Amino acid sequence: MTQENAHIHERTCIACGQKASKAGLLRIVRTSEGIAFDATGKAAGRGAYVCSPACFEKVRTGRLAHALKANVSEDQAQAVAQALQAHMQTV
Ligand SMILES: [Zn+2]
Repeated sequence: MTQENAHIHERTCIACGQKASKAGLLRIVRTSEGIAFDATGKAAGRGAYVCSPACFEKVRTGRLAHALKANVSEDQAQAVAQALQAHMQTV
């Protein structure tokens, strides 16, 4: 048992509800143009989290837009999906 665990802020995947530390989830951030994958987890703006590209697919056309209060175009959703896939191959 360590005290360090108390400092981990859990985030929740908006698709499946799985909880994980911020580092364990993929952050989608709202930008002036719409949405983008935030690989650093530090970009300014309203963010939402998913645990995997598969979960992103489940929410990309609906819940994600609600969570971010953003308009998500199909092109942007596709770009983010590709960014997530690429990211998953680097970790
Ligand atoms: Zn999930």
